[in-house]
Formats: sequence, C-alpha cells, structure tokens
Amino acid sequence: MPTVAVIPHPNAPVELREVPTPELERDSALFDVDLSEVCGTDVYLQQGRLQGVPYPLVPGHVSVGRLSRIRGTLSDIEGRAFREGDRVTFLDVHGTCNACWYCLVAKATTRCPNRKVYGITYGLRDGLCGGWAEQVYLKPGTRCLRLAAEPETFMAGGCALPTALHAVERAEIAIGDRVLVLGSGPVGINVIILSLMRGALSVICIGAPMNRLAAATQAGASAVLNFEEHNETERWEWILELTNGRGADVTIEATGSPAAVVHAMRFTRDAGRVVVVGQYTDHGPLSTAAAFNPHLDLNKKHLDVRGCWGSDFSHFYRSAQITSDPVRAAPWISLQTNLSRYALGDANQALADVAEGRVLKALIAPR
Ligand SMILES: [Zn+2]
Ligand SMILES: [Zn+2]
Repeated sequence: MPTVAVIPHPNAPVELREVPTPELERDSALFDVDLSEVCGTDVYLQQGRLQGVPYPLVPGHVSVGRLSRIRGTLSDIEGRAFREGDRVTFLDVHGTCNACWYCLVAKATTRCPNRKVYGITYGLRDGLCGGWAEQVYLKPGTRCLRLAAEPETFMAGGCALPTALHAVERAEIAIGDRVLVLGSGPVGINVIILSLMRGALSVICIGAPMNRLAAATQAGASAVLNFEEHNETERWEWILELTNGRGADVTIEATGSPAAVVHAMRFTRDAGRVVVVGQYTDHGPLSTAAAFNPHLDLNKKHLDVRGCWGSDFSHFYRSAQITSDPVRAAPWISLQTNLSRYALGDANQALADVAEGRVLKALIAPR
C-alpha cells in the first residue's frame, strides 16, 4: 500500500493517504519515486486556480525514480527495452493522440485536446498518477526516459527546464541578442541559462525577491533588478542603459502577472520579439490601468508577440540530454545548492515555502 499526498479539494491542506497497489495493465509499469517537484503550478492546484482539474489529486508532475515493476514491454524512443531497476524520468504529458487536427495539421501537440498531465489533469480516480507518492503507476503509452544525469541535477531544472526550452525556441534567440527576462522563478532562471546557450550576448533579469535574483546571477544574468524597488520608468531607464538605448532584442515573460506582459512589450525594442510563457494560470484580464495601447505598444513597434503553451517530448528529451552532459550540465549542477528537500508529510510546508518564494526549488523525497 503506497502512501500518497493528496489535495482532497481546492483550498484544503494536503493529507496523506494509503492507496492499494494497482493491477498492472499490459505494457505498463510501477515507478518508485526518488524525487518529485513542487512548483508554482502545485500552489495554484492547491488554491483551485487551474481549470479542468479532477480532485482529489496527487500533485507532482515531474519526478525521477526507478522502474520497480514492468508488465509487458516498455521501450525508449531508440527502441531499447527498459528493465526493472532502471533509473528513469517520464514525460508528464500522456495521451497526446497524434490523430487530431492540432496534432496532425497545426503540428501543435501541446494543444491536443486529448492530452492529460500526470499530477495535474489526472486525479486520484485515474490511479496513482502524481509524484508526491511512494509510487506512480505509469500507464501504457507513458514516455519514459533513461536518466544518465544525477537526479538532483535533472531536478535542478525540473519542470521549468522543458518549459524554458520551449520558450527560447519560440523566441528564436540569435547569436548576439540582448535578452531581457521578466521573472526570476525557476522558469526565468532556466530561460537565462538557455538563452546564453543559444548565443545571447547578454541576459538581464527583472524579478524578486533577492534570493531569486541571486540565483539569476548565478545562472549567468549580467545584471538584475528588483522590481519591488523600481517603478516602470526606472526599469525602462535601466534597460535602455544596458541595450544601447533601444530596448531588449528579445523579452521573455515568465512572471505569472498579467501586467508583466504589457511591460514585456514596452521593454522590447522596435521590431523585436516577445514570448509570453508565464501566464499558465488565468489571473483575469488586465486592469484598465495596466491596459496596453495597441498603436504604441504593438503595431507601431512592429513587434512580434508569441504565446508558449506547455512542452512536448522533444523539450523533455533535450532537457534530459543537456543535464546529462558533463560539460553542458554545469549551470544546473551549480543550481543544486538551491534545492530544498521535504518529506511526503511536509508537503504543506513545501507549498507554503514555494508560494512565498522562500525557496527557489522544493522537492518531495518520499522515501
Ligand atoms: Zn511544474
Ligand atoms: Zn491530438
């Protein structure tokens, strides 16, 4: 009987439950969790701010662990069969159909209506489907990846890494670009690392609080600014000084605040590009005071503004590759000092620490 941490319904504290070990279907597996992530999405899940979530729910959508039981065959994308005992991680997205209009015509699989996400849109009724648990049931068709990286190195990137990878891809960052990152949470930090890997000349970051801005500097940001201490005009002056008086070539918004989308547009140079990746939760429309001016902020600027939703297997695969490479993994090895571990029974504390920004990255270690 594995123990799991459950959000019973929105705004209720997490509680521990014991659930029966499932019968394994053909080509499925049981996964023993070593580490699972606590991210901003889990805070929103607990607050009931995501749509289409089936409570009760076991959170934890990105995890590392070992395959403890396999029934039938489970293979990686090179066709090599997994064995019991293999250290793996698995793509949290399951059931992307490769048969609908979005999958086949738009080639935008993150908008496939049939996709489900472990720990977010799969609830306890769907089985052992979240990582805040001793075990996860990997349904047939779950995409597993052999993990060569140390679990802590991979989790230092965590779910933010594939999200950030997708964002810098959408941003098409070119060699020599001056990049502005709004937000110094895990997605912002990973965007800084990956922008530099893509050849950015410099990356500057506006965020808060100071411990997260220190992590941004550690990740390679050449300058950071605390938005709590500087108004919009002061921020703009700071950016102009660092971008030859033009504004950022590319701005990536990773904050969760609707107003930051307008700032991203204003802080970008004419004919530059903005990628919005921080609006995973619906915080409602912009307030009148924060509304943008379509003429000045968008059309006249000849601005390219792009949304970025979720991530797919390619982003997850590249994340595992890059954190497994002895040279390329260096930024995430360095970020491991920012990991905070919690036992399954301390999940409420972990959620509170993430919500308050007291820790950069919280992990549940169920064993
Ligand atoms: Zn997450
Ligand atoms: Zn589809």
